[in-house]
Amino acid sequence: MMKCRLCKSNKELKDSHIISEAFYSSLYDTKHRALPVHLEKNKLELIQKGLRERLLCACCELKISKWENILKKDLVDIGNLESKFLKIKRINKGFIKVEKIRYKEFKLAVLSILWRMSVSSNDYFKSYSLGPYEEKIRVILESEMVPGEKQYPISVTRYELEDKFSSEILLGFPSGKVDNYFTVQKFMIWGHCFMIFVNDRKFPSININVFLRESGDLYIDIRSLLELGEPNSVLSRLLDEDVHTMFKEKMNWKN
Ligand SMILES: [Zn+2]
Repeated sequence: MMKCRLCKSNKELKDSHIISEAFYSSLYDTKHRALPVHLEKNKLELIQKGLRERLLCACCELKISKWENILKKDLVDIGNLESKFLKIKRINKGFIKVEKIRYKEFKLAVLSILWRMSVSSNDYFKSYSLGPYEEKIRVILESEMVPGEKQYPISVTRYELEDKFSSEILLGFPSGKVDNYFTVQKFMIWGHCFMIFVNDRKFPSININVFLRESGDLYIDIRSLLELGEPNSVLSRLLDEDVHTMFKEKMNWKN
């Protein structure tokens, strides 16, 4: 018997993946493609798929998997640019507008992935340490009290190679800062990069449409995977400057 990291009760713990298998199986991906680029040479780390750890009891694991299944279904649809449930519109080469995202489940799923990487004892995830936010996010996940759109705001970027989407890519990134104040954590699953501003009180001076809205609206910007392969630009591009450029583009952009 061990203490579940989420509900803190003494129970038998499951030996679970830190990053759920759902995000690297091709079960729902009808347009599955192998990733034809090699990223070993730059500083980004591919997230190890197989890493497991005893963190959660069966009950908590089930709770999280329900959110993850919704996130996964949405990512598959967004990846394929077609959905029976979501409204997905490719605005131009650079942007997609998605409507009808289930805000609560989507947001809790993203936060739960970040939180699991933070509580993991594996060195592989050490850049995801959340400090005092680890406990705050635990309380959110346990209580299922989803934070508002201005707390822990999340933005999403889609990566393509030669205008083709690839769901195969999972990547970890070092944590970064925006405005020298906001800690930003990023990870890429199912070809989408999630950027989370780890703050529950202050909201950055950025147009809110850059982030997932409580209404279920989400603007996704589209980038090329090749940009990740340019070694000198990798870190700077992924942190401050990159973030500001992207936000400016999104802010200038009208519905
Ligand atoms: Zn539990």
